[in-house]
Amino acid sequence: MIEVAVTGALGKMGSTVCDAVVAAEGLSLAAVVDPAFTGGDAGRQAAHDVPMFTQMSDCLQETRVDVAVDFTTPDAVFENISTCLDADVHCVVGTTGMEARQFAQVEKLALEGDANCFLAPNFAIGAVLMMEAAKVISRYMAECEIIELHHDQKLDAPSGTALRTAEMIAESRHQEPAPAGPEGNASRGTVYKGIPIHSVRLPGLVAHQEVVFGGPGQTLTLRHDSISRESFMPGVVLAIRRVPELNGLVVGLEKIL
Ligand code: NAP
Repeated sequence: MIEVAVTGALGKMGSTVCDAVVAAEGLSLAAVVDPAFTGGDAGRQAAHDVPMFTQMSDCLQETRVDVAVDFTTPDAVFENISTCLDADVHCVVGTTGMEARQFAQVEKLALEGDANCFLAPNFAIGAVLMMEAAKVISRYMAECEIIELHHDQKLDAPSGTALRTAEMIAESRHQEPAPAGPEGNASRGTVYKGIPIHSVRLPGLVAHQEVVFGGPGQTLTLRHDSISRESFMPGVVLAIRRVPELNGLVVGLEKIL
């Protein structure tokens, strides 16, 4: 049995992850962490009858945890991961919006310590296939723009998926795209790795992305839609099972498929 703790357990993703862990063979939900749980003492979460904590450090002192899964906020994720890696607990991280310097520190902690960290900006297989397809297409059509669309509660923009897609395209394409202006105009989106990214935030959306490629006389559009958070769960469960055998920090679901 892999003993799993979920941080951000009362959130939209965290609560779905708790259900997925309970339903998965070979995984056991050991504890849940969320600041919204009241009281300093460990209680029991009604839904799953497991100990609950307001902080990861308290959880690790009182519970045996093999893998911690983090779907929290850009402000909380770094401290949660550091606490776990310091305590030799493997991490599976879905939270997006971590700063580059924090990312580098996590990489160092995971490399130097006995616990590994797996991070995926998107755990949905369809989104990963979209990114892989974008890589291939970009070798033949270098000009593209990304439109990412998410629910209005999302804290970070552009999305982690959009940034990762841009990185993958930039690493893969053979030629630099021709610059498309006007430069410095907010309406043209945030330019990352030479690719404009446009962020839409609306109630009713979950997580969606289009990558639009353009060439003389033609366009090609890739689109992925997560219409429910169940779409992420097979990827999260796979990552929990695989993270103990990885080495250091590994980024992207495609690396463990
Ligand atoms: P959410 O509904 O706001 O949930 C976040 C939860 O984390 C909240 O209950 C929050 O509590 C809690 N939290 C805050 N600080 C914490 C801490 N220090 N320790 C433990 N829990 C803490 O957000 P969500 O929609 O579930 O998304 C969570 C993250 O996952 C976001 O970064 C989002 O972009 C990302 N995400 C990733 C994927 C993927 O496939 N990788 C898919 C979807 C979403 P309070 O409300 O009290 O602050």
